[in-house]
Amino acid sequence: MTHRIIPVDPFDLVIFGATGDLARRKLLPGMFHRDADGQLLEGTRIIGCARSQMDADGFRALARDAITDHVPADRLDTQVLERFLARLDYVTNNVSDADGWETLKDVLGASPQSSIRVFYLSVGPALFAPIVEGLAAHGLAENGRLVVEKPIGHDGASARALNDRIGAAFPEDRVYRIDHYLGKETVQNLIALRFANALFEPLWNARHVDHVQITVAESLGVEQRGPYYDRAGAMRDMVQNHLLQLLCLTAMEPPYHFEADAVRDEKLKVLRALRPLTGHDALAATVRGQYRGYAKEAENPDSHTESFVAIRAEIGSWRWAGTPFYLRTGKKLRSRLSEIVVRFRQTPHQIFSDLGAPLSANALIIRLQPDEGITLSITTKDPGPGGFRMRETPLDMSFAESAERGWRMPDAYERLVLDVVRGDQTLFMRRDEVEAAWGWVDPIIEAWETSGRKPEPYDSGSDGPYGAIDMLSREGQRWRELSP
Ligand code: NAP
Repeated sequence: MTHRIIPVDPFDLVIFGATGDLARRKLLPGMFHRDADGQLLEGTRIIGCARSQMDADGFRALARDAITDHVPADRLDTQVLERFLARLDYVTNNVSDADGWETLKDVLGASPQSSIRVFYLSVGPALFAPIVEGLAAHGLAENGRLVVEKPIGHDGASARALNDRIGAAFPEDRVYRIDHYLGKETVQNLIALRFANALFEPLWNARHVDHVQITVAESLGVEQRGPYYDRAGAMRDMVQNHLLQLLCLTAMEPPYHFEADAVRDEKLKVLRALRPLTGHDALAATVRGQYRGYAKEAENPDSHTESFVAIRAEIGSWRWAGTPFYLRTGKKLRSRLSEIVVRFRQTPHQIFSDLGAPLSANALIIRLQPDEGITLSITTKDPGPGGFRMRETPLDMSFAESAERGWRMPDAYERLVLDVVRGDQTLFMRRDEVEAAWGWVDPIIEAWETSGRKPEPYDSGSDGPYGAIDMLSREGQRWRELSP
């Protein structure tokens, strides 16, 4: 297998929040990897922006540390590192300070080579609109591309207000709302698996699929983000974006072409077809949990915020009518695991019924982490004489192993930033998708708030609250185990 690395045109990447956690852990190391693979051409520059006072050398020292901390030693070629650091520049810019904008304008104007300009907002959400407006006010928005991190709003109304402010400066075809789950190799492979193979699509419907489970489980708690997280909760932090995006890719109809708006049109249809959950229905179809000890970490003794949520969702469409999509996500769970499980129906008639225990139904498991890969679980005969016994056999496709030796799985951010440079919006959320997702989530949150009920407590390191297990067992199902 060969991996073609196609260089991208020279570009300027301006990272707002360049001294922050995301920049240090993901963006700078990610761009270093792309440089190491020869994908960045001469003339490409990365310009850090933040309040901290420092010069370009100070930022290079910060980037050197970040890369040394987050890039494996065998990738740390000194020559490549020096080449990469030479691309960096830094502008001190407290976004409310006019001087910083002028300096940024001068720095950007000094490079005639790169006609592609990317502004990456790696800052807290309160700064999204002020930065966008600062860029516009200083004539920097023209032809620039804008990358916006999550969260886009706190609810539908605030998302619309933010999107309006963004839209006043950047047309939608230059706005890239990032969801790093969509940059994962496996998620793109889900699209390939469904639409580049004849095998699965005929089975991909309510007639053959019993149910779908989408799990994003974290083993860590809220850590240092307690008070921030307490204003959001699992529904806003994870379901509104990541889980619903995964649901869309699993459930969408084939787009007419693999092209940004064609794919996003199909995802939007799924969001609009989600059966609304309001009032009593919302309470019946959801389970909220809070791990023991959360309230202390969140510094809010009376917190009603959920650190876990499970939802039974339904999609009102010909393809999916009657097939439940079970979503669950939570913190401080047994393990860190993200996966989509498509559980097929049992065979219509069991000819092996004399063998005792019923055979398990086939399942397709699309694993996003820890080890990205796809597994098809099928039933086969246990080899050897001595009767006819069955066993569940995984047909395993781990991408890291199936790739050639020496190949490393690129991080989602590496792909996504270069997609922005290429001008490819396929893996980014369009405004109407974000707002449709809020449109489904808002009434559920409202129902929780109106009920005044507290989330159900669960132990750290467990599978979450009992209510979530019960939700499935009432329907004769169970969650796939949370073991990596
Ligand atoms: P962070 O560590 O708090 O960094 C925030 C950055 O913003 C810092 O560089 C800070 O630098 C800068 N900043 C703060 N106030 C500023 C101002 N007035 N003017 C200019 N710059 C200012 O945050 P983060 O964890 O990197 O997250 C950044 C964004 O990415 C957030 O929207 C977050 O929700 C999203 N996100 C983060 C992660 C992650 O893994 N960290 C994952 C997904 C999404 P100075 O203090 O030097 O100004």
